[in-house]
Formats: sequence, C-alpha cells, structure tokens
Amino acid sequence: MKIHEYQAKKILSEFKIPVPKGDAASTPQEAREIAQRLGGGVVVKAQVHAGGRGKAGGVRVVSSAEEAKQFTASLLGKNLVTFQTGPQGVSVRQVLVEEAMDIEKELYLAILIDSQSLGPVIVASEAGGMEIEQVAARSPGKILQVQVDPVLGVQPFQGRKLTYGMGLKPELVRPITDLVSNLYQLFVAKDCSLAEINPLVVTKDGRLLALDAKLNFDDDALFRHGELRELQDTSQEDPLEVEAAKYDIQYIKLDGDVGCMVNGAGLAMATMDTTKKAGAEPANFLDVGGGADEQKISQAFKIILSDPKVKRILINIFGGILRCDVAARGIVTAAQEMGGVKVPIVVRMSGTNVKEGREILSSSALKVTLVNDLGEAAKAIKTSIG
Ligand code: GDP
Ligand code: MN
Repeated sequence: MKIHEYQAKKILSEFKIPVPKGDAASTPQEAREIAQRLGGGVVVKAQVHAGGRGKAGGVRVVSSAEEAKQFTASLLGKNLVTFQTGPQGVSVRQVLVEEAMDIEKELYLAILIDSQSLGPVIVASEAGGMEIEQVAARSPGKILQVQVDPVLGVQPFQGRKLTYGMGLKPELVRPITDLVSNLYQLFVAKDCSLAEINPLVVTKDGRLLALDAKLNFDDDALFRHGELRELQDTSQEDPLEVEAAKYDIQYIKLDGDVGCMVNGAGLAMATMDTTKKAGAEPANFLDVGGGADEQKISQAFKIILSDPKVKRILINIFGGILRCDVAARGIVTAAQEMGGVKVPIVVRMSGTNVKEGREILSSSALKVTLVNDLGEAAKAIKTSIG
C-alpha cells in the first residue's frame, strides 16, 4: 500500500526525523491560510501516489500566500501526468504547503528489502533529487548500498560509511547515523517495503531535513496496522485493483490485451509467460488462490470482463481444492450477469472434475476454445490474434 507524502512526513516526525513545517490543503483558500501562517514563502506540492512530480510541474516554490492559493487552484481537480504514471495521470485532490528551504545539497536515502540478500538494505547517494534515476543508470558508482543485519540494526560504523560515502562533513556523522537509525526503526515498526527520502537535504544553515518522503507498506502485514489502513486513498489506485482487493483476489493491472485468470501464483506466472511466447501481452496478473469457490471465480472473471483493454481471455485452472466444474460454473454465471462475453476465451483445465467442467463450458453460450496444455493454449491465443 502507498500513502501520500504529507502522511509519510507525519510518520517520519513520529520517528524523530526532521521534516519542514507544513500542512495538507484540499482547497485553494486552505492553501492560502497555511502559507500565511508559515510566512508566505512556501512550497506547494501536488499530493499523488507517484513520483516525478517536480519535473511534471506538480511542485512549485512560491513567494506569497496569494501565489500559493493560485497555484493550488491550478492543480486541484486536475490529473497530474508524470513519468511514473500512465498517460491518463492521477488526480490531484490535495496539496502539501510547507516552508521553503534554502538547499545546500540534495541527497538520496532509502531503505528497502533487497531481493538478493533477502534482507533490508540502505541505499544512499550524494546525487539525490530529481535526477536519481539517471544517476542510477549512468553512474551506479555514486549509489551506495549498506546491508543491515536485522539482529543488530544500523551500526555506528555504517552511519560513518554512509556519511562519508555521501561526501558529507564529519560533523554530520552523528545526525546522519541518528536519522538512518530512526528511519530503520520506522521501516521495521511499520512493515515497510520501501522507505525513501529523496531529497534528503542539507540546508544552507547546516540542518538535515526530509524534503520528500515515500513510504510503501507490505500489504500482507496491514492486518496489524489499523492506523495505516486509515491512510489508504483509493482515488489514487486502479479501480479494478481496488475491487479485486475487496474479494481477496490477487490482481495486478498490466498493459496488454490478454485477460488471464488462474488459480495459483506460479501457474499465473507460467500463464503470462505462455501469453508472451504466443506474441501477445497479458492484460493482468490474476490469481484467485488455491481455495477459491464459485463466487470468487465469478468475481474474478467479472473484473477481467470490466477491463476495456481485454481483447481475448486465457483461463488456466488446475482443479485441486477448487474443482473444475465449480470454476466453470463461476465463469458461466459471471458471463450471464455481465450480459454475455464478446471476446474469445481459451480455457485450459485439468484436475478434479475436469470432464464436468469442460462440459459446462462447451454447452454454454460462451465462445470457448478448450485446450489440453499450455502449448495448445499458446497456439489458440496466436490464432485469436490472427
Ligand atoms: P518529486 O519530483 O515527486 O520527487 O517531488 P520532490 O518533493 O522530491 O520535489 C522535487 C524537487 O523540488 C526537489 O528535488 C527540490 O529540488 C525541489 N524542492 C522541493 N521542496 C523545496 C524547497 O523547500 N525549497 C527549494 N528550493 N526547492 C524545493
Ligand atoms: Mn522526490
């Protein structure tokens, strides 16, 4: 789960990480009042669940409360398109108004789970700010990585390594070490998958501040964080993903046109590979899970049918706990409730009650091609493309 910058900054403060003074506003008038309280010279920042706002015109340093109000009015209700969003962008419903800082240096600092070492890693760079992606691509030597031992936490020598590695003066060893330790405590306490501060700045008067903040949380740990669930903003999420989550269906929207419905994550991966091998692109990842019932299958199939990008469907079911006849009934029911299906459907089914399942599908009004294995599925998808 993702949250907004202003929410992330509140959590950062709770963990004693310094952030600029400021507040969120959802009307131009509110933005004006906050700016006035802060003395006029402020930064106004669009609050969206995407980075790259600076380059997309979503962040502006203004010199008066009136200007803060005007810029806010120009942002609210619009969609902001950044290199991290699709071409349709994401809607801006709030802005963050905070005191503007005189920046000496922009650094990059993040903690995430490293899939190679299977543990937390601190990533830091002296070249923080809006060009970090280019820095990572062109001068990876400028990116520092320090693994954290989960038993020991952040060690003083690692704090020194990070400080000097970011080209900072010795007097910052202590503040950087404290800040990194605090961020690590936050990362663990809140079950983050990512805690990123970009830029972490050194101000002209020598202070260290988190000027931007991004926190992503492990969805599987949200059950123990009621306080985080409250911060969810579904207006920033894909509506079909929000719908899928309601039914505990693992669904991720992708760019292709082959809607995939599968039971089991490994099988879903194999199905997506098969789709690609057939020269097509999956429209989604969808795993109904091993123990799905007719209703869940039906919900999942409706989600696929609701995606206007889907031009063909590939269903791959292995009947175990979920019997093939139950899956077939779920598919047929969903199709009826959605007023029929116009796109071709390829179904590979095997396992318990496969015969009954196939019969239900072939005697229905659906345009189904029943196949026996993934190779045949690939061929059928290819044929459907023509
Ligand atoms: P992002 O582009 O979505 O990551 O948005 P950021 O919050 O990182 O802001 C983008 C850039 O705006 C930063 O890298 C800074 O250069 C600039 N910026 C943000 N806040 C301030 C500020 O208080 N003062 C000044 N001078 N620049 C700021
Ligand atoms: Mn940033």
